[in-house]
Amino acid sequence: MVYDVIIIGAGPAGLSAGLYAGRSRLKTLIIERAQDGGQIAITDEIENYPGSLPEHESGKSLVARMAGQAKSFGAERLADVVKSVSLEGGIKKVACAKGTFEARAVIIATGAHPRPIGCENEGRFIGKGISFCATCDAAFFEGMEVFVAGGGDSAVEEALYLTKFARKVTIVHRRDALRAAKSIQEKAFKNDKIHFLWNSVIVSVDGDGVMSSMKVKDTRTGVVTEFQADEDDGMFGLFGFLGYVPNSELFQGLLPLESGYIRTDEDMHTGIPGVFAAGDIRVKSLRQVVTATADGAIAAMQAERYISGLE
Ligand code: NAP
Repeated sequence: MVYDVIIIGAGPAGLSAGLYAGRSRLKTLIIERAQDGGQIAITDEIENYPGSLPEHESGKSLVARMAGQAKSFGAERLADVVKSVSLEGGIKKVACAKGTFEARAVIIATGAHPRPIGCENEGRFIGKGISFCATCDAAFFEGMEVFVAGGGDSAVEEALYLTKFARKVTIVHRRDALRAAKSIQEKAFKNDKIHFLWNSVIVSVDGDGVMSSMKVKDTRTGVVTEFQADEDDGMFGLFGFLGYVPNSELFQGLLPLESGYIRTDEDMHTGIPGVFAAGDIRVKSLRQVVTATADGAIAAMQAERYISGLE
């Protein structure tokens, strides 16, 4: 069986594409390797998506409604990992662990993942002190000390969230000024629980089983300082919010990439006929839920035009 469109990724862009494709009566398959929602699945509160519920709309609840809506219009779902794609020609092939699926058009909505902290021993302590999701893991650090790496909107917003649990939150930033929006910065500067380590990068973490020490380098002087967990706590938390890395490894050599992101025109065309990209995977100036869903809608409508031979 040949689908009209295969959508790779079930974040806001992929689910919106699924809704529009299904509503256009295209035979649609959405493939997702992990949980629906991508990055917003781990966002505690979405307050800037128009129409989101005024009383605490979590990323999970918003995305669950998006998934239900795509399904109600007939989009099929597959939980699988895409291993490779063949994008040229009239029939595209998407090879997954469970089999190879064919479609006339493909919409790439694979998004991005958090950038690693990049320090020595990082892998050893993920889930044992290191986390990239405050919503998921803040509660483990109730009453403890935590560090947040980064200085953008995510780092500062999540640091504010962490103050509800931790007794002290220290933002470790490589420069002496935050990148975060001024309104978010103001809240952080006013919060007594938030402290800053300016011009600093984390070079290594260590511990016996759980993370209990960390070395931080001053980027101006090169001096390395070691932090030890409070004796009573035995460990501390480290949350990484250093921006994102595009999930584009499947498309290397197949599509032109710019710093790993896929370049499209404003109608989401990638340059290969019948292949579209939507959401955070694209080269774009604003990566938000509202821009991802808009991209998904445009990509699906353009896929429909392409399949009907209108372009
Ligand atoms: P971001 O804006 O790219 O910020 C990344 C931060 O990590 C920057 O402060 C950067 O430092 C630092 N950094 C990057 N690589 C590093 C490295 N190797 N070592 C040390 N520090 C490093 O990422 P984000 O905060 O995740 O936000 C991503 C996008 O989502 C942004 O467009 C943001 O505005 C948006 N966002 C919006 C909201 C909201 O509207 N409420 C919430 C969250 C995110 P430098 O500053 O020195 O470059």
